[in-house]
Amino acid sequence: MNILVINCGSSSFKYQLIEMGGQTVLCSGLVQRIGDSMGSLTHKKAPGGEGEKKYTEERPFPDHTAGMTRVMSLLTDPELGVIGSLSEIAACGHRVVQGGEIFKQSCIVGEKELEQIAALSPLAPLHNPAHVQGLEVVMRLLPHAPSVAVFDTEFHSTMPQHAFMYALPYEIYEQQRVRRYGMHGTSHRYVAQQAARVMSRQEPGFNVITCHLGNGCSVSAVKDGKCVDTSMGMTPLAGVVMGTRCGDIDPAIHAYLGRQTGMGLEDIDSLLNRKSGMKGICGMNDMRDIHAARKKGDARAQLAFDMFCHSIRKYIGAYYAVLGRVDAIVFTAGIGENDPESRAAICKDLEAMGIVIDPAKNEKRFDNARSISPVGVKVRVLVVPTNEEIVIAGATAALLKEKMA
Ligand code: ADP
Repeated sequence: MNILVINCGSSSFKYQLIEMGGQTVLCSGLVQRIGDSMGSLTHKKAPGGEGEKKYTEERPFPDHTAGMTRVMSLLTDPELGVIGSLSEIAACGHRVVQGGEIFKQSCIVGEKELEQIAALSPLAPLHNPAHVQGLEVVMRLLPHAPSVAVFDTEFHSTMPQHAFMYALPYEIYEQQRVRRYGMHGTSHRYVAQQAARVMSRQEPGFNVITCHLGNGCSVSAVKDGKCVDTSMGMTPLAGVVMGTRCGDIDPAIHAYLGRQTGMGLEDIDSLLNRKSGMKGICGMNDMRDIHAARKKGDARAQLAFDMFCHSIRKYIGAYYAVLGRVDAIVFTAGIGENDPESRAAICKDLEAMGIVIDPAKNEKRFDNARSISPVGVKVRVLVVPTNEEIVIAGATAALLKEKMA
């Protein structure tokens, strides 16, 4: 059974075609700059296969339909394709960032669900409208293959109320649904499960702190396989310091800036989301550039790095207290998987909490899940490559089986 996984943004989308029997990625790709005068597409067959080399083309994609139509023709292309006909796609799994309180589980999408996902757009204005667009296009182009929505917020729906509520008047929650929803749930779920597997543990009785550190960063506390707290909030702006997002700040700063500078709400929102975080401190948001700069003595780059690590350490400490006992700390996503310096700085001097990293293991590069702590420590530190697409494909296949049963 082949599942097409789609992660659709407002001007780009990523795709993967996954064969579920062997959990093999047949091909993957990315369409960017949709709507611009010139767009781009990259497409790659699975490693090891024929035609493994990356195929790229530059041409305008006026809208998502144009991009998706091109991808469909590539999937069945005699040279670059991996299937004979589109009928070999059994279903399509879509990443959807915000499921609000309506969607606590993945679901097959029909007209009603499309409307509900669209209605949640005010809570995720950069994401949900794009997901709706992606869903509509795929449902039209692949009418035989059910589309399934897998929500980033699903995994966090198990948070207890005292963790997801903000201390605002209760009516604000009742009327506006203002609360913590959390993001990156699919990734946190996957790496927590993988951590239990690596340590030969079952999820019941297993407590883990998962750190998803990419462009967006979030930390979750996971107990018995369920999320009990997470650092992102109603939106992905909250929590730790990120590439361009400020993370936790005094909420009064919003009003203060408005009064002092005359900036409007939209401008402040954009400042906090796009011009803050490490970029706001040192002008750079890619960790590789920040390392290069601080090694040349750039004090701002050093400050940005120190602030980033400090904010994650604080969440690790907080979630240690939330969980009471911690079996493992997991690092994942672009920085978490690839940057030993961040991992070392975040875990420095935490021996008293039982958190220790073996420097040699930390420096080694592997593609699979591994422990980077010395043998016999109280809390294992693990690096686990995330694979949100496999989780989305798995959830899609499971719903399809249920529907066919
Ligand atoms: P996204 O959140 O967009 O999925 P990723 O998980 O791919 O992003 O993470 C992107 C970030 O990972 C980049 O900003 C970069 O700072 C960081 N990164 C990737 N590779 C490395 C590396 N080898 N060393 C340090 N940082 C890295």
